[in-house]
Amino acid sequence: MQPFVYNALPARVIFGRGTLSQVGPEIQGLGCNKALVLTTPGQTKEGEALKTDLGVLAVGLYSNATMHTPTNVTEEALLVAQRLGADCVVALGGGSTIGLGKAIALRTDLPQIVIPTSYAGSEATTIIGQTENGLKTTQKTMKVLPEVIIYDVDLTLTLPTQMTITSGINAMAHAVEALYSKDSNPITDMLAEQGITRIANALPILFKDPGNNEARSDALFGAWVCASCLGTVSIALHHKLCHTLGGTFNLPHSETHTVLLPHTIAYNTPFATVAMTKAAHSLGAPSAAQGVFDLAKNLGAPYSLKQLGMKEEDLARAADIAMENPYPNPAPLEREKLLSLLKDAYEGKRPA
Ligand code: NAD
Repeated sequence: MQPFVYNALPARVIFGRGTLSQVGPEIQGLGCNKALVLTTPGQTKEGEALKTDLGVLAVGLYSNATMHTPTNVTEEALLVAQRLGADCVVALGGGSTIGLGKAIALRTDLPQIVIPTSYAGSEATTIIGQTENGLKTTQKTMKVLPEVIIYDVDLTLTLPTQMTITSGINAMAHAVEALYSKDSNPITDMLAEQGITRIANALPILFKDPGNNEARSDALFGAWVCASCLGTVSIALHHKLCHTLGGTFNLPHSETHTVLLPHTIAYNTPFATVAMTKAAHSLGAPSAAQGVFDLAKNLGAPYSLKQLGMKEEDLARAADIAMENPYPNPAPLEREKLLSLLKDAYEGKRPA
């Protein structure tokens, strides 16, 4: 076996059904009693219900979390937290809500309890991405790692079917990049392979039967496992491209991951053959790139950047931005090849 370095992150994870009832005890376990509940506008009702359940342990609800963590939204939420004297945040939602909790923690050190309701995986990472003046920048700091993660499978039953598919592929992207990361190691390989398999098996079931508890449970567990990979290794071209398209062109997060993943895998496969063979095997497909493309397309997910509203004339600028401050990547980054990758993704071509 090759020598390796593995850096595990501390995590307190509560996983199950009906675990939302654990939020109150967990707030108290942190020595807190003035929680600010965070949600997106779309999950206000769930946030209000949680606030009511928490009774005197919750001081308020801020329900304007926004995708890609714009700093103006963070500043508004911070004012609310300060005005209410919040001593912790409880983020109930997908990556946007968890991102807001992290952005608040970055600036205040308030502890976070996060209740993920999508498969994006932000809860298990020290990564915070923020968008200001149309540019999304990311940093890694332990300050943003949530203290407690509560996974309640019941809360994922309402995740719309298309978002279930794209968010599941978003989780897979973390595992794929972990397999060929410069920090890859046998532990994250095991997690990545397990995560890809759980999600690949769960998504076709959820496409037909979104209320299937067993498949929901597998998908959420797979999402956590994939997120744990993301939390411990360096990310590469795929995430860089998604941040570029999300931050600068405001494309939706999980859909962008879904469209780009087959193409970034195809770009990297010649330089990461062992890793992408593992990914293919975990998917149960002969080729990882085609396996992800077929899985997404067959389950009705978007498969072209054109479908996401990307403009063809912006592809060149996207390639330029992706070349700036590149992340370490198995395949060397060449602007013309990147542009051709983006064109294939724009057209929705099945990778060769
Ligand atoms: P999201 O959080 O924006 O959710 C999309 C929509 O789905 C929202 O309206 C949300 O309220 C709704 N939703 C979520 N769960 C639901 C449920 N169970 N039922 C009904 N509606 C539900 O999208 P996302 O894809 O989860 O997260 C994307 C954001 O997360 C991006 O900003 C991305 O950069 C960030 N992210 C960060 C990291 C990290 O490590 N820092 C990792 C992954 C994603």
